[in-house]
Amino acid sequence: MSQLTLAQRDLNVLWHPCTQMKDHESLPLIPIKHAKGVWLYDYEGRRYLDAISSWWVNLFGHANPKINAAIKAQLEKLEQVIFAGFSHEGAIILAERLTQLTQLDRCFYADNGSSAVEVALKMSFQYWQNKGLTKKIKFAHLENGYHGETLGALAVGDLGLYKKTFAPLLPEVVRIPVPHPLNKIQGESAKQHATRIFAQAEKILNAEHETICGLIVEPMVQCAGHMNIYDAHYLKLLHAACDRYHIHLIADEIAVGFGRTGKMFACEHAEVTPDFMCLSKGLTGGYLPLSCILTRESIYQEFYDTYESGKGFLHSHSYTGNPLAVSAALATLDIFAEENSLEKNSHLSAHLATALENLRDHPHVSNIRQLGLIAAFDLVDSKGLAYLANERRGLKIYQYAIAHEMLIRPIANTVYFMPPYVITADEISLLLRVTHDAINDGAKS
Ligand SMILES: *Cc1c(COP(=O)(O)O)cnc(C)c1O
Repeated sequence: MSQLTLAQRDLNVLWHPCTQMKDHESLPLIPIKHAKGVWLYDYEGRRYLDAISSWWVNLFGHANPKINAAIKAQLEKLEQVIFAGFSHEGAIILAERLTQLTQLDRCFYADNGSSAVEVALKMSFQYWQNKGLTKKIKFAHLENGYHGETLGALAVGDLGLYKKTFAPLLPEVVRIPVPHPLNKIQGESAKQHATRIFAQAEKILNAEHETICGLIVEPMVQCAGHMNIYDAHYLKLLHAACDRYHIHLIADEIAVGFGRTGKMFACEHAEVTPDFMCLSKGLTGGYLPLSCILTRESIYQEFYDTYESGKGFLHSHSYTGNPLAVSAALATLDIFAEENSLEKNSHLSAHLATALENLRDHPHVSNIRQLGLIAAFDLVDSKGLAYLANERRGLKIYQYAIAHEMLIRPIANTVYFMPPYVITADEISLLLRVTHDAINDGAKS
């Protein structure tokens, strides 16, 4: 009897995320044996440059010596402990450091991005209920946004691909426009565009604010929404409007936090401190699932009362504040501090910008955009129009790149890069060369 390969055994028993499993009848699944830095190694002796940080989580490379050591040391002390009635030193230090970094006051742990969003929504809602503003029962969100795929998070997202099927299950929400190239008037500057779109947003907020608890946004970059980068001015205007209308601003920094956009947190581009900030993904350097929700003391105080008042926030996850995940997060923050990472990243992002220039005049490339170490462009046909979704042009780019040692994973027609910060300038050049060839190869068919 022939031995089944790992890929065959996988497809016999597993069900993978974000995948039409039938695709794997023709698309090979790639089991990874080990990884180091930006490189993933498979069982066939092939390697892949992880240009998307393993789904936007990895910051300082795979098998990072400092993070590895921190987790190993923690493992010998405490692997997990109930976080109600009990605590541990790492969770306390991490909360102290995160509150200092974000200028917020209180930290609530959960264990993944979607849960963090659920917590922020529930906290915001209950805050107004506790205050007696019982008409506030809805959330506002931005067009083209993405906040995860549990039902509450899905409700405040706007991507039909994930949401459409489940629409009947989801609570009513208020949709706010977002600056986007498709709505931009020719000749309009990014700031003018933001100002014009904000006028539409303000009308909606003005009409509905009495029923709105909070507005959730991905600050600066809507990542799953085809890497839509919008002007900081829009965030400033939304923040001011939220203040005026007594609506919480909930910043979902799950993808953009921890330096991706060039600042530690994307809100800093607009000098905005939100009412709630959700962090996950890079929080542990991409090692272990952990998330946290940061908020203000004044919000916390609205829950602080006798047990009988019923005002407590009675939400929990079993792995809240897991000590191993926390140790990875602390080591990650140490690296930021010790290695001057944001400064180093600014050189890498300048190199990325230069490398992208070579695509500027390519007939099949449009709308090149970049903020920090997030960069993207859209594939277009020879008339400059978007390819039809069913042509799956992005998938062709993926396949070509995989055959040439690169892991990029376009979102439909949008090719993007979000590499770990340990990528070198040479590796960025290589990545862009392969991408260039992939586009030319795809254009042949
Ligand atoms: C990934 C992501 C989430 C969801 O995080 P999960 O850990 O995958 O549940 C939420 N918001 C944004 C902006 C994200 O990119």
